Amino acid sequence: MFDLNSLLRDNIKRLTPYSSARDEFKGEASVYLDANENSFGSPLPTNYHRYPDPLQWKVKYRLADIKGVPPQNIFLGNGSDEAIDILYRAFCRPGVDNVVLCPPTYGMYEVSANINDIEIRKAPLTEDFQLDLEAIESAIDENTKLIFICSPNNPTANAIDKEAIEMILNNFEGIVVVDEAYINFSRHKSFIQELTEYPNLVVLQTLSKAWGLAALRMGMAFASEDIINIFNKIKPPYNINQASQELALEALGNVEQVNAWIKETVEEREKLTGELAKLSIVEKVYPSDANFLLVKTIDAKGIYSILTNQGIIVRDRSKVELCAGCLRITIGTPEENVTLLQALQNIA
Ligand code: PMP
Repeated sequence: MFDLNSLLRDNIKRLTPYSSARDEFKGEASVYLDANENSFGSPLPTNYHRYPDPLQWKVKYRLADIKGVPPQNIFLGNGSDEAIDILYRAFCRPGVDNVVLCPPTYGMYEVSANINDIEIRKAPLTEDFQLDLEAIESAIDENTKLIFICSPNNPTANAIDKEAIEMILNNFEGIVVVDEAYINFSRHKSFIQELTEYPNLVVLQTLSKAWGLAALRMGMAFASEDIINIFNKIKPPYNINQASQELALEALGNVEQVNAWIKETVEEREKLTGELAKLSIVEKVYPSDANFLLVKTIDAKGIYSILTNQGIIVRDRSKVELCAGCLRITIGTPEENVTLLQALQNIA
């Protein structure tokens, strides 16, 4: 049985929720002398002399509309990387608890575990980049608090089978994190509609990819209200600044533009997949549910440096397990993709 309270670290159980004296007044007071702000104003033509809303309700209500998830089931972080770090701090006792990771996968799960002194147990993906349920089962013990599943997975680009994720959600008594940073480009459905079904599910998404806001640094965690309340206790009170909140709200009005970019990215992805597969230096283009391709080549290092010398930067993933010979290539604009293809054709 999943029991959220027993999973929490004792110091986290003892924390009281952050509350601001200002909450009681709901913005109705006329004189604010409670927060040691500059009462005279801000050098910017805005209300930046006031602290921002610590729970970012306006942004969350807008996201709730877009995602079909109630606002109290949403956490906003300074990139999804902040949510990853908070998960370790909430649930994993340094030097005692462990996390199960399924490499090759997004590097920050491991970096953040190391920063927080959490033991990492690896259950590598299978040859076709799916979960190895037996390996996961044998990696888990009573101190396993978190499993990270990235779907679509970075760097392999494929989505993870829904049934396998459900199997883990149904059987693991810790927190299952499904990182959906690339879900907008996928044929697979998001898990965010399944939050009521699985009290141990945390879904991560981000505005850094399809939404075109990598510089804004805004990531989202979707989970039960109880889990979101824990995130809110741990985060710094003003983790999302006023400028980010205003800009996110403005950007979130552009759903149609974003959908058009997603459509074009997917079309370009399929086109590029076909063109790359024709090249003699390419051994395999893996199927992609993301906005990038994993491409197995005859000489990743050599091709990487030839491209770099022409000002074209891709990612050499050839040292990553199961990815020997592979480059990871983001889908560019149609013009950028032509430039890339021409450069590769010249090598071939
Ligand atoms: N998850 C995955 C799978 C990613 O690839 C990335 C960024 N490369 C992130 C999360 C981080 O996103 P953010 O910019 O929101 O921190």
